[in-house]
Amino acid sequence: MSAPSSRDFDVVIVGAGVLGASMASLLVARKLSAPGRVAIVAERFATAASADADWDLRVFALSRASERLLKGCGVWDSLPAQRVFAYERMCVWDASGEPQGKGSLRFDCAEIGEPNLGFIVDGRALQWQCLQAARTAGVVLLEAGLAAIVATDSDISVRLSDGRALRSQLLIGADGQESKTRALLGIETAGHAYHQDALVAHVRTAKSHCNTAWQRFLRPGPLAFLPLPDGRSSIVWSAALPEAARLRALDGEAFGAALTAASGGSLGDCELSTPLAGFALKLQYALEYARPRAVLLGDAAHVVHPLAGQGLNLGLMDCAALADVLGQAGGGAFFGEHRLLRRYERWRRSENLLAAGALDGLERLFSNADPISRGLRAAGLSAVDKLPFVKRRLAQRALGLNGDVPEFLKADRAWPHK
Ligand SMILES: Cc1cc2nc3c(=O)[nH]c(=O)nc-3n(C[C@H](O)[C@H](O)[C@H](O)COP(=O)(O)OP(=O)(O)OC[C@H]3O[C@@H](n4cnc5c(N)ncnc54)[C@H](O)[C@@H]3O)c2cc1C
Repeated sequence: MSAPSSRDFDVVIVGAGVLGASMASLLVARKLSAPGRVAIVAERFATAASADADWDLRVFALSRASERLLKGCGVWDSLPAQRVFAYERMCVWDASGEPQGKGSLRFDCAEIGEPNLGFIVDGRALQWQCLQAARTAGVVLLEAGLAAIVATDSDISVRLSDGRALRSQLLIGADGQESKTRALLGIETAGHAYHQDALVAHVRTAKSHCNTAWQRFLRPGPLAFLPLPDGRSSIVWSAALPEAARLRALDGEAFGAALTAASGGSLGDCELSTPLAGFALKLQYALEYARPRAVLLGDAAHVVHPLAGQGLNLGLMDCAALADVLGQAGGGAFFGEHRLLRRYERWRRSENLLAAGALDGLERLFSNADPISRGLRAAGLSAVDKLPFVKRRLAQRALGLNGDVPEFLKADRAWPHK
């Protein structure tokens, strides 16, 4: 097979979120593309936050596999130490149970021989460092919207909102849940709205968070406290729309009291230390991830309930899987081959659907008020808590240490080593 003639870029990525930027750096870090051969198109690029700014309201719980991937693309070690917090324990309990007693499930990193259970990372710092790593890797950043896509047998072209045209072997849509790339490719989605908002803020609590991620399953939706390095916690409180609207209308003191009650007083009195932000929640999955010369990844391909903090972790595994598959292409000239991109699609679609289904099932089970479901989940949590082997498997799965993870993420070693 003769190689198609060289194009403007090997790869054009639409979207400069954490995933678009990480994918671009990964292509260079894995030596799949040379500096200058990958471009990112985005309507806006993130700007740096001042060093003394408060933690971003968006925080991410990241797994070990995500940490390894971000290390490999030069992001992790550039994150300011005060913007990353390793948590050591996790406690999940049902509304009818107690965090330290019946109806709860606890994990401790010491039980699984790991230094921590993952990291809480400041969203703005992560976003900025991902973009910086892409710049350092020689990725070309183009500020513009996406206007049109035309794929031919030998390449794919995108026309930008400012009239420029870019040709490449592969187009990657990493432009989030409202992906224009997906729409222009004519890829349909399925799913449903949860009719819930996730309320997000940072709070002070009277009791220490003890380096623990806490999650209580309430009937209107789960309430999570993610520990921050300054002793505060970042909350993600998912509630049905009318309840979320009621909570948002409360003044700070009344909201703190409602939060204290919703957490069963487990962390003592809670006090808001930031404004509240709200995110509408839905389950959405693209019916296809791959078209000739084009793929989707991250929220453009799948949006899941945030109850287990998995969306970005799944998206980073999409990046890793795509890099793994492109590594088998035999060079950038062959990146657009549909058979290769279908391999990525089969791999990631099954993993992501499994995760989305599990999270959807958990959300339904825990929001169900009938006594059988209530009894089942309390008994289920207590039972799993008494099974060290099952707990270890669950914790390792959450850390991304087992499951269908690309080989190059399985061990903590330096890159590149294809
Ligand atoms: C409340 C909440 C808590 C969460 N917590 C966690 C967590 O703890 N851990 C975790 O792993 N995940 C978490 N998630 C999920 C996570 O936020 C998403 O999965 C992740 O941000 C998706 O990243 P992305 O890069 O695909 O999309 P986005 O972050 O949405 O980025 C898309 C990018 O594309 C750009 N773009 C969009 N349209 C265009 C266009 N037409 N042209 C050019 N550029 C465009 C945007 O400007 C943006 O830069 C949470 C989600 C919610 C709602």
